[in-house]
Formats: sequence, C-alpha cells, structure tokens
Amino acid sequence: RSMLNLQNLHATVGEGDEAKPIINGLSLEVPAGEIHAIMGPNGAGKSTLSYVLTGREGYEVTEGSATLEGEDLLSMEPEERAAKGLFLSFQYPIEIPGVPVMTFVRTAMNAQRKLRGEDEISAPEFIKKAREVGAALNIDAEMLKRPLNVGFSGGEKKRLEIFQMMMLEPRFAILDETDSGLDIDALKTVADGVNVLRRSDRGMLVITHYQRLLDYIRPDRVHVLAKGRIVASGGPDLALRLEKEGYDGVLGEPA
Ligand code: ADP
Ligand code: MG
Ligand code: MG
Repeated sequence: RSMLNLQNLHATVGEGDEAKPIINGLSLEVPAGEIHAIMGPNGAGKSTLSYVLTGREGYEVTEGSATLEGEDLLSMEPEERAAKGLFLSFQYPIEIPGVPVMTFVRTAMNAQRKLRGEDEISAPEFIKKAREVGAALNIDAEMLKRPLNVGFSGGEKKRLEIFQMMMLEPRFAILDETDSGLDIDALKTVADGVNVLRRSDRGMLVITHYQRLLDYIRPDRVHVLAKGRIVASGGPDLALRLEKEGYDGVLGEPA
C-alpha cells in the first residue's frame, strides 16, 4: 500500500505573472517501509518537489494530487502536514541566535503533539530521549545547549538535522541533499540516520545528486527526475548506471 501517493502533480513557483511551471505531471508512489531515492540534474525540480509537498509559501499546485496515508496533503497547512508526520530536512537551516538546539527541538515536538491532540513531552522524558538520540549520533550534551546552527560546522549541522529528524520520529521523511558538498563522514551520518529510521510503517524519500550517498543507503527504488517529471525508475542499480553513463546516457537524450 502506498504511503505517499503523487498523481500527475503540476506546480509553479513564484507569484502571479511571474509564476513559472516547475513540476510537470509528476507521479510517484512510495509504499510504507520503503526508501526511495530521487536523482536528477541540477534544476530538474527536486527541491521544488520537497517544498511543494511541505507546503512552502510561493509554491502552487495547479493540477494533480498528493496524499499521505490517504489524506490530502494539499489542503493542509504546513504545520498540519508536519503534525501528520511529514518531515523535510533543511526545514530549519536557519541560525537562531539565543535559542538552544534542545529548546528548539522540544518546541517543535510539542507543537506537533498539540496539533495531534497529545500531551506535551515531559522534561525528564525529553531529556532522556535527547540523550539517547544524541549518543547514537555522537552529539554531546554541550552541543545541544548551543544556539541552533550558530557557529556549527557543516558536518555538525548535518548531525543536528538528523538529530531533529530522529527526535521527531516522522511518519514520512524527505531528505533533500542537494548542493551541500558533504564530506564522507557527513554522508555516513545522513545514511546512518536514514537506516536507523527505516521501519515497516515509515516511508522515506532521499533526494540527492550524489550516487555516493546511495552506497550507504540501499534504496528500494531509484527515480530520475528531469524537467519536473519522473522519467526513469528502477532498482538501486539505476544509480550506478547514472554514475557511469550520466543522465544523457541513461535517458537517451539531453536531460
Ligand atoms: P533542483 O533541486 O533539482 O536542482 P530546483 O527545484 O531547485 O531544482 O529548481 C528547479 C527550477 O526552478 C530551476 O530552474 C530554478 O531556477 C527554478 N526555481 C526555483 N525556485 C525558484 C523561484 N523561487 N523563482 C523562480 N524560479 C525558481
Ligand atoms: Mg539544485
Ligand atoms: Mg535542489
């Protein structure tokens, strides 16, 4: 059964006369328990797809449907989507001076719980969980007391992002690993986080143009996004072919 179901999705970026079609008839189904990778050339619309799904301002769906566990995502506010368990990495790439990582994550967790009609997480429960997740990611308690992302290295930001994801325990996670120029340790951090979160009742979409990341995450399916549509799908070997033959080679035409 598909968890994320996108049918003939069309979307534009920008307002009014400036609106530009970027997603052009994209269909994709990710069943529960599976990890799908989306690869594609620069400018294909990969990041746009993740923004459309999370409901970012300035992105408008003009046709098609997007459901998560059978519920219409497109009629929900971004916060409702998050409360339903949709997580996008890089959702908070911003630095927030004065707000410690711990406070930020706890606020995000409680905002989602509130929308779901659940009680807030208690302080001891939160601290216990943060310690466990932090330990798994080699993040020490001192780091979690520092303001979000301020003065953190690229690799540390990456670990904090995976920390947030693991704390929030999403139903469906989208990781957009675009132009971040990650070193091998950071790639492994991302992969470890994804692999730990793999579960029969959770789905994940990993967007990347680095084949290397997929050496550590074994995706169930690999899709190629070009010009706003899925133009090829296959098993993990498709990523290897893309690396060898390039997009033009695999697609048989300029992507
Ligand atoms: P990818 O992540 O695959 O590299 P993007 O989704 O970032 O691609 O971008 C797809 C296309 O949409 C690009 O041509 C880009 O220039 C354009 N685009 C993205 N954001 C905007 C925007 N805010 N306004 C206008 N065009 C945009
Ligand atoms: Mg790009
Ligand atoms: Mg991108």
